[in-house]
Amino acid sequence: MNAAPAFKRPLSDMPCDPDRIQLDYELKAALSSEDVLEMWRLVAHVGEDSPGLEHIPPCKQCIARWNRIEEQAGYVEEDAECVHRLRVGEFELVRVRCDGSQSPFWALEEASQSLYEIAQTIFNAEGNGFTEDFQEIAEWGGDDVLVLDRAEIVEAWRGFGLGPMIAADAIHRLAPGCSAVLVHPAPADARSMNDDQREEACGRLRKTWATLGFVPYGDTPYMIFATCWADPEAKQYALRRASRELSAAWRLARREG
Ligand SMILES: [Zn+2]
Repeated sequence: MNAAPAFKRPLSDMPCDPDRIQLDYELKAALSSEDVLEMWRLVAHVGEDSPGLEHIPPCKQCIARWNRIEEQAGYVEEDAECVHRLRVGEFELVRVRCDGSQSPFWALEEASQSLYEIAQTIFNAEGNGFTEDFQEIAEWGGDDVLVLDRAEIVEAWRGFGLGPMIAADAIHRLAPGCSAVLVHPAPADARSMNDDQREEACGRLRKTWATLGFVPYGDTPYMIFATCWADPEAKQYALRRASRELSAAWRLARREG
């Protein structure tokens, strides 16, 4: 048995047994398109049918929305449901298919600003091939590239290391056939942060993604790992195993607490 991992919060604070966390993978695709980009959305949530979850409150946004309705002399149904209440986190991953007839560079440009910036980092100036640096990494492994585009854990579930565990599951399922995985360690919404807070958040994220085996990618703001590297594989295997042991640790923490 390994030593218990150090969490930022007592494990007994976790809203319920992590064994109940389910991962729903959703792929949005059009029948007619080439699907150069596979857009995956992963929702981690606690199963609806799990008993004993009544104590988990609705999310702040829903409470605020209900309050606004009531303030405007409206009426909120007593059984109004917050669909986010049992949510643990949400991730978005993009698998870039590089062997199709369409240009992955232009597909990324059309998709979003953050994906366009990644395209500019890994493709050459003409957009018709990888940069020399990336080609060296891409040579070993599959044709495709996986981007971890967004990762968010709901506040009640933060501090227990679930982000890397869930990401490890996603990479395990979606990375086969990819030469490399990229992530931008930056907060999804930095609008309310000053420069120091933003840099601190980025530093925390760099540490988080390093637990999955990501390393800084040259002098770019991105982190990367090649799927042929042994270190990320070992780290992600350990994280997937840790996620299976988390339930036993949680039950122990609840008993002792
Ligand atoms: Zn809600």
